Amino acid sequence: MAGVDCQILIIGCGISGVTAAKTLTDAGFNKVRILEATNRSGGRLLTGTLGTDIIDLGAAFIHGPSEENPVFRVARHYWLLSPEALTEENQSADVSERPPMVSNWFSCSGQRLSAKDMRPALIMYSQIMDDTSMCSSEEPQWTSVGHFMRSEAKRRAAEAWKDKDEATRNLLFSALSALFKVECCSNASNSMDDIDLAGFCTYENLKGLDCTIQGGFELVIKNLVSELPPGIVTYNRPVRCVHWNNTESSGSGVTVECEDGERIAADHVILTVPLGYLQKHHSTLFHPPLPPPKVHSIQNLGFGTCNKVFVEFDVPWWGPNCEIIYLVWKDEEDITDHVTDVKQRWIRKMSSFTVQEKSESHAHILCGWIAGREAEYMESLPEEEFKQSVTELIQRFTGESRIRTDKVLKAKSHVKNWKSPMSDVHFHHVRVFQETLLSCQKESYALAGLVIRGRVVLTLTLQ
Ligand SMILES: Cc1cc2nc3c(=O)[nH]c(=O)nc-3n(C[C@H](O)[C@H](O)[C@H](O)COP(=O)(O)OP(=O)(O)OC[C@H]3O[C@@H](n4cnc5c(N)ncnc54)[C@H](O)[C@@H]3O)c2cc1C
Repeated sequence: MAGVDCQILIIGCGISGVTAAKTLTDAGFNKVRILEATNRSGGRLLTGTLGTDIIDLGAAFIHGPSEENPVFRVARHYWLLSPEALTEENQSADVSERPPMVSNWFSCSGQRLSAKDMRPALIMYSQIMDDTSMCSSEEPQWTSVGHFMRSEAKRRAAEAWKDKDEATRNLLFSALSALFKVECCSNASNSMDDIDLAGFCTYENLKGLDCTIQGGFELVIKNLVSELPPGIVTYNRPVRCVHWNNTESSGSGVTVECEDGERIAADHVILTVPLGYLQKHHSTLFHPPLPPPKVHSIQNLGFGTCNKVFVEFDVPWWGPNCEIIYLVWKDEEDITDHVTDVKQRWIRKMSSFTVQEKSESHAHILCGWIAGREAEYMESLPEEEFKQSVTELIQRFTGESRIRTDKVLKAKSHVKNWKSPMSDVHFHHVRVFQETLLSCQKESYALAGLVIRGRVVLTLTLQ
């Protein structure tokens, strides 16, 4: 079947699937259907509440909110953006020119560290990050972003911090460890040693300073879904296998087999499952199997865990303008962004808390960030043990033992984390591997919107 009467099946009802359906139905295609494994639309976009406050458990920021960014255009279309995000000034701003977030620093011995004293570490960190863009794959001395960051930090500090005493230098190196752990969260990586330097440098920021969506990111999905033809989404319908090469005799190009055994014929399939899901299930999800170059691309992109932990306090223990809190373990002067004994020391990976914007309820909420194997281990812990660890962390760094009993575990206090059930883990990065990364990158990007023999389209959302 050709033209607008062809049958199109979309697998997954996250923002990729919903947008694909909206685009096709707006263009007049009248046989579009979405199959979603869970009972909701949105996938990794999930807005929840903490007390009476709205919080985004999944994506929260539109990165690069400007005309080029389709998410920005959709959010603007539904009037979901603040007046500030809509200004020309915000849309044309270069993210690298954004002033650093106002930070508060605490050490593991329960002391508040002066932000001024920690400034050399922040400056060093941002200069090294900026300089990654000058590195290319022709510089084989760097095996990874982590290797580059550590080596450069040590080399530059030998000159820049030579007049500082040893204790100060060690504290600054430990502060760099905290900052490198934060970088792991931006990349959903276990360690920056897993991230390929050349691939890292290909990341381009769109213009515009990050903005959030008032009322929560999930409103984007809700608005889009409300404009789809009724009944187009079938929930609780996980797909087991896509038979894509005329292996079924239905006459249609593709047959989609659901977990419950139902088989649905289609002319085209758009697959929007996350990369992590593809990595685990591609061998059974396609029949016949995908051609080796596609499998190669799927396997060689990294996909890791990044979790948010929301904690509410009756009284803030951070400064009035503070936007981010960094936790410095004083014994990490060797510059380390992951722990070796995950079971015992996973909590050390949570080196930053961002301060949630003041809400109408005036609640004081922090969002803790943790990535990699430490985050995966945290997910496996019983709720009470996890809460206790977060409480003890804050208690230790503030030197304030009352926080534990009065402010976190009781009354208005909440600690929450979330993992999207069918996403496996969270977002992608460019992983170090033996071959030249750029060739993998090209293939991987080619996966987004690739048509296999005119029938199956794979989409990968590259964050
Ligand atoms: C904690 C966190 C914070 C993030 N922060 C940001 C941010 O600030 N800004 C940003 O731009 N991005 C952010 N991201 C990334 C962003 O959320 C994702 O890139 C985006 O939501 C992906 O949308 P998607 O539709 O491609 O995939 P998903 O949202 O994962 O949707 C895929 C859908 O497919 C379904 N599915 C899976 N397998 C099957 C199957 N076999 N059969 C049927 N259905 C199936 C899933 O249930 C899901 O609904 C964040 C992600 C996380 C986890």
